[in-house]
Amino acid sequence: MTARLIDGNALSRHLRAEVARRAAALTARGVTPGLAVILVGDDPASAVYVRNKVKACHDTGIRSVQETYPASLTQSELLARIATLNADPAIHGILVQMPLPRHLDAQAVIEAIDPAKDVDGFSTASAGELMTGLPGLRPATPAGCMKLIESTGIDLRGKHAVVVGRSNTVGKPMALLLLQANATVTVCHSATPDLGAFTRQADVVVVAVGRLHTLRGDMVKPGAVVIDVGINRDEHGKLCGDVDFAAVSQVAGAITPVPGGVGPMTITMLLVNTLDAAERAAGAAATTP
Ligand code: NAP
Repeated sequence: MTARLIDGNALSRHLRAEVARRAAALTARGVTPGLAVILVGDDPASAVYVRNKVKACHDTGIRSVQETYPASLTQSELLARIATLNADPAIHGILVQMPLPRHLDAQAVIEAIDPAKDVDGFSTASAGELMTGLPGLRPATPAGCMKLIESTGIDLRGKHAVVVGRSNTVGKPMALLLLQANATVTVCHSATPDLGAFTRQADVVVVAVGRLHTLRGDMVKPGAVVIDVGINRDEHGKLCGDVDFAAVSQVAGAITPVPGGVGPMTITMLLVNTLDAAERAAGAAATTP
C-alpha cells in the first residue's frame, strides 16, 4: 500500500473531544445541549443506529432524549410530537431516524422540524442554505467527508473533485460543499458513461454509490485523495466500501478505509451540528471544531 490511510476513528476521537469541551462550557453557562432522537417502528438496524447516536451524546455531555413509538404511529401524532419538540427550549436538535414506516410521509416529517433544530440537515430549508452558501446545518455524512479531506492537508482551491453519486443526503450536498471550498466539481451518476474517464482526472474522488468495486485501481490518478462513503458486504459477508481498497491504495495518495473512515465521522458531525445549534440558540458564537 502506498496511500496514506485517512483514519476516521482518530479524527472522530479528536473532534468528539472538542465537542465535549464545548458542551461542558455551554452547560457551565446553564444551557445543556439537548438532542431528541425519534424512532418509529421496530427496524433492528434503525434501533442500532439510534443506540449509537444516544451513546455518542452521552459520551460527549449532550443530553439526549430518545422517543420510541410503535409502527402504528400516525402522521398527525408524529407531527404533533415534532411541534412540541420545536417549542421546547431544552431541545436544540431533532432527529427522526429514517426510514420511517411506509404510511408516514418522510419528507413532510423532515419539513416539520424547525430548521434551526434540523441537525440532519435534510430539510429543503437546510438544503437551500447550503445551496446559497448561507450558514446552516449541513448533512452529517458529507460534512464528515469534508473534515476527512481537510485532514489530508490538501488545498481544494483549483483542484478537481469528482463526486460519484447524486443522492440528496450524500452526493449532492457533497458536491456543494466541495464547490464552496473552491474545488472544480464534477458529479457522476448511474447514467454517466465511462466513469473512469472522469475519476482519472480527479485530485479528490468521493464515492457514494452503494456498490462494491465501483472505483477500481485503473480509475484513479496517482496521488489522488479517495473518500469511500459506501457500505456493502462482500461475498464473505465482510463490510466493505465502494472502492477496491487493495488496488486503489496502490495508486492513491490518501484513502479512507471501510470500516473506520467515513462511518465514525457521520455520528461525530451530528454531535457537532447539535452543539452548533445549541450555541446558536444560546446566543454564543459558534466555533466549529
Ligand atoms: P443512493 O441514494 O442509493 O444513491 C446512490 C447514487 O449512486 C445514485 O445517485 C446513483 O445514481 C449512483 N449510482 C448508482 N450506480 C452507479 C454507477 N454504476 N456509477 C455511478 N453512479 C452510480 O445512496 P446514498 O444514500 O447516497 O448512499 C450511498 C452509499 O453510501 C450506500 O452504500 C450507503 O449505505 C452509504 N452511506 C454511508 C454513510 C456512512 O455514514 N458511512 C452514510 C450515508 C450513506 P442515480 O441517481 O442515477 O440513480
